[in-house]
Amino acid sequence: MLTCTGYAAAEAARPLAPWTFERRDTLPTDVKLKIQFCGVCHSDLHSVRAEWGNDKFPLVPGHEIIGTVTEVGAEVSRFTVGQTVGVGCMVDSCRTCASCREGLEQYCENRFTGTYGDADRVDGRITQGGYSDAIVVDQAFVLTIPEGMDPAGAAPLLCAGITTYSPLKHWRVSEGQKVGVVGLGGLGHMAVKLAHAMGAEVTLFTTSAGKSDDARRLGASNVVISKDEGAMQACAGTLDLIIDTVSAGHDINSYLALLKRDGALIQVGAPPEPLATQVFSLIGKRRTFAGSLIGGIPETQEMLEFCAEHGIVSDIEVIKIADIEDAYARMLRSDVKYRFVIDMASLAA
Ligand code: NAP
Ligand code: ZN
Ligand code: ZN
Repeated sequence: MLTCTGYAAAEAARPLAPWTFERRDTLPTDVKLKIQFCGVCHSDLHSVRAEWGNDKFPLVPGHEIIGTVTEVGAEVSRFTVGQTVGVGCMVDSCRTCASCREGLEQYCENRFTGTYGDADRVDGRITQGGYSDAIVVDQAFVLTIPEGMDPAGAAPLLCAGITTYSPLKHWRVSEGQKVGVVGLGGLGHMAVKLAHAMGAEVTLFTTSAGKSDDARRLGASNVVISKDEGAMQACAGTLDLIIDTVSAGHDINSYLALLKRDGALIQVGAPPEPLATQVFSLIGKRRTFAGSLIGGIPETQEMLEFCAEHGIVSDIEVIKIADIEDAYARMLRSDVKYRFVIDMASLAA
């Protein structure tokens, strides 16, 4: 057994505190990582507050993990000790269903195993995430971090990056298309960077007027303050695709109205409450309202290569693990510039 230390919520909505727990020993197909950095996703916050209603406690969050390989099992050929690697939101899946065979493990018909708060397929233990010192993961769910990429800035690519890359690719964003991004947080700022790198003309919709200059620096051509009704109306019927990253309840109908005929609004933000849809807005212009979940392992590797090619990493603020509750409080105030990343060396300090 591998004894690990991390920060856990003992129960729903309790502040995170140091906790010691066990993970399995390294099996023949496993890779063991010493965790260097872990990004702070809004999903971590939804989970430790049990807002999605399916969480198991104690819970160590964290699914944007960058680490150094410290041990590999006898059958591991793709990874070597000392290499910098990544682990995202999944640590296993059934590997035999149609979705798994297509490399779409996130849609595994027998449910993928989440990096935290899920029953491990190997030993039945509840999985624990990356706000910890080490993790053991099957090699099939370990990502290669491109040579030279900043490891702290790469961490958020493993959730925020792939979650926005995947729908941009699936809906075939191309040169000159008009893409809207709603919300400039962790996911939103990656959506702006990635859509811009794919050649789209990006409009950012934000509730925070103070983020306009940053949005332009990140690649947006236009910034609309979503409370400004006139500015919203000026965009009516102009966008091919919208990526909505908002974490709380909001009016999606005002965004559906901005799509062209046949345009699509992709919901990646996951508010716990239902979002009411004005169906006439869909019917009248054959618009699509869809969702998208992270991305499969092959596409995550492709996204990392795309980011390396385009010089993209996340814009981050590095924090100590002891400051996690302050980071959560700022996240709830939409005051993230634009992803917190925990320096895991602070766990030992
Ligand atoms: P985040 O960093 O907190 O960013 C969310 C942004 O949404 C905020 O910065 C803010 O941007 C905007 N916002 C927040 N509250 C709002 C409100 N009440 N009304 C309007 N806008 C609001 O969060 P994140 O880590 O990017 O995650 C965003 C959401 O995606 C979360 O629900 C998370 O669980 C979900 N998620 C989904 C997937 C998936 O696979 N689909 C993967 C990862 C995360 P402005 O200040 O610009 O308005
Ligand atoms: Zn996430
Ligand atoms: Zn499967």
